[in-house]
Amino acid sequence: MKKHTVLSMLATGAFLLAPTASIYAETNQDKLNSIESQLNGTSQQLDNHKQEKLQIEQDIALLQQKLDELNTAIANTEQELATIEQQIKETEAVIEEKNRRIGYLQVQIEKRQVLIDQRLRTLQEQPRSTLVTELIINSKNITDLLEKMYSVSLILNSDNDILQEQARDKDAVETEQKAVKEQEAALQQQKEMQVQKQQQQAADKQQQEVLMNDMHAKLSQTMEEIESTEETKALLEAQRQATQQLVEADKRAAAQAAAQAAQAAAQAAQAAAAQAQAAEDAKKAAAPSAGASSQPSVAAVNQGGFIKPAAGAFTSGFGGRWGKLHAGVDIAASGTVPVVAAADGVVIRAYASSSYGNVVFISHRINGQTYTTVYAHLSSYSVGTGQTVKQGQQIGIMGNTGDSQGQHLHFELHVGEWNLAKSNAVNPMPYL
Ligand SMILES: [Zn+2]
Repeated sequence: MKKHTVLSMLATGAFLLAPTASIYAETNQDKLNSIESQLNGTSQQLDNHKQEKLQIEQDIALLQQKLDELNTAIANTEQELATIEQQIKETEAVIEEKNRRIGYLQVQIEKRQVLIDQRLRTLQEQPRSTLVTELIINSKNITDLLEKMYSVSLILNSDNDILQEQARDKDAVETEQKAVKEQEAALQQQKEMQVQKQQQQAADKQQQEVLMNDMHAKLSQTMEEIESTEETKALLEAQRQATQQLVEADKRAAAQAAAQAAQAAAQAAQAAAAQAQAAEDAKKAAAPSAGASSQPSVAAVNQGGFIKPAAGAFTSGFGGRWGKLHAGVDIAASGTVPVVAAADGVVIRAYASSSYGNVVFISHRINGQTYTTVYAHLSSYSVGTGQTVKQGQQIGIMGNTGDSQGQHLHFELHVGEWNLAKSNAVNPMPYL
């Protein structure tokens, strides 16, 4: 994850201005200029990342608003669906009630039918003449007879009326039942539409949630980039300050040298005067004085010699790994393994990085050349920024902090200053 920053910065080309040491002797002022230029680039990068983060946060807020609206719509749909289902239930109850009524009426109709059939049969069994004779015999008078005949027809007619009434009732109930069934079908259709709407909304929500997850991932990546860039900026700032001190020391040394030169010139003038005096004094001069003019040779301090910074096996070499540069070597061993300074130097930074873990940066000056060594993934470090260390001096304990899998020391050697592009990184093996 962290490497994205490096890659994106590489892509912008912001840090591809690493000076080539061979063309000319780089002064501390040159180094300072280079570091300041890198710092400007890093600050710009940091501003960009922060802008990006703001944008993502705005996008997230907008998306959240959409999601909230969608959730409200989903709740409404659910409410509507519940209402429709309630209506369906009520309609079903009405249908059931109507079915019961139809059933009851049918039983009534059948009972009446049986009764009517019996009466009709009685009438048919008796010859009509007999029936009339009986009516005549049993009637007291003509009025009675007419009344009796009327009663018979009335019974038959009234049975027919009831029958027709029952049939009408039945038709009416069936019509009603049909209407209610149509209503139920309409409700079912409404329900289906509502369910479809619900499914669409659920799909929309899922899609938006995926988008939201993506955005959160993007946000955390940007935050990591900000963190990483801030670390880089702090490291560059530390290097800038160290180099600034060197530039000031150079200025003081130059001033001192000028003063010494002036003094020497004065002394030379004095000496010349004295010599002239002496020449004057002693024309009898003997052999010329033999001055010890040997230049003090610079002691061969650690001719490019770094020592292996920890005991253990080399488990990963310098060079391309998984499509990118592995800018150092890995040394692994188990147990409590001390990590030591590979050469004399000054600690330019010791801190907890999210990618390097507990890490120590040491700047070395060997035979006029600056080197920077990096000791990463330490379980702990025992030196502080600005501290002078000797070769072999313990600076920490091997560990598994930061972007690391398993206890090991990630060791980098840079010829010159460390930079974000790690363009000065070299394979440390030939130097050990
Ligand atoms: Zn490594």
